[in-house]
Amino acid sequence: MKCIMKARPERGLAWSEQPRPEIGPEDVLVKVAKTGLCGTDLHIYEWDEWARGAVPTPIVVGHEYAGVVVEVGERAKGVRVGMRASGEGHVVGFKSRASRAGHFHLDPETRGIGVNLPGAFAEFVRVPAFNIVPLPDSVDDEIGAVLDPLGNAVHTALAYDLVGEDVLITGAGPIGIMAAAVARRAGARHVVITDVDPGRLALAGRVADVTPVDARNEDLRDAMAKLGMREGFDVGLEMSGAGAAITQMIDNMVMGGRIALLGIPPKSLAIDWTKVVFRMLTIKGIYGREMFETWYKMLALLESGLDVRGVITHRLPARDFEAGFAAMRAGGSGKVVLDWGGDLG
Ligand SMILES: [Zn+2]
Repeated sequence: MKCIMKARPERGLAWSEQPRPEIGPEDVLVKVAKTGLCGTDLHIYEWDEWARGAVPTPIVVGHEYAGVVVEVGERAKGVRVGMRASGEGHVVGFKSRASRAGHFHLDPETRGIGVNLPGAFAEFVRVPAFNIVPLPDSVDDEIGAVLDPLGNAVHTALAYDLVGEDVLITGAGPIGIMAAAVARRAGARHVVITDVDPGRLALAGRVADVTPVDARNEDLRDAMAKLGMREGFDVGLEMSGAGAAITQMIDNMVMGGRIALLGIPPKSLAIDWTKVVFRMLTIKGIYGREMFETWYKMLALLESGLDVRGVITHRLPARDFEAGFAAMRAGGSGKVVLDWGGDLG
């Protein structure tokens, strides 16, 4: 099969030909239709410090996918050949306290498809049947290919009650923009999104009913005054991992405000904890998706009218993956989706 590989421990990815994965008794084989490029894939491409420590080589990369189940292991339950599916990219163990309590997303032995395990940027990917999420007819393959990041957005946005609340989102990448759309759908009053990339802010304004603020040259307090906000944001969703954005968020929360952190800071950063204490802020880290409550919620949100298609800005044949990564590096892009149908040469 054709696939995209990290062949050697160095920068770059390669278009490659590899044998089709063999499945175990509890696995299924998915014929991939579409995949999404993720910031994680870009880190693996660039072979930064995190990637060097986390990713074994050689490995097929990629974890955001939709396709069709074409083979089912003899002990795989609840999955049949021909089923359209996406799936949870975090493969969990079943021995830990958290797993045995049903909190699979908290399992400390979690491994990632396309990070520690063979990935989905391929014609076929092996997935534990447990991880498979069947797709309703109303969710097409390209939306199916972005459910992993939409799940990050839903998991973060629904960390707190949003009905009638004013929400600050720092970071207008695809997940921040989708979180804005979810927050609006979940009943937020005002949603303000900040970034330093005017292209991304413009995209946010097109996809969701939000107030974009350019953190380089616009004052967040002016935006708040224009919206008639007096005391600060009730809920903060941090999607950038940037120290300046986290500081600005803490400075602009109401007393007793609630913050969910999804963005990953590239290195440790200083926080003014005095402000956190005196404002009695609640801060919660978010990782991945809740298995499988987040999947249930996001499919239900999509079926009841949540529209995030506008966040997909690039659609490319899989072979042109280099152009997809170039678009991600150039900024202003939303989600890049690769098509694994047609002639893969
Ligand atoms: Zn991802």
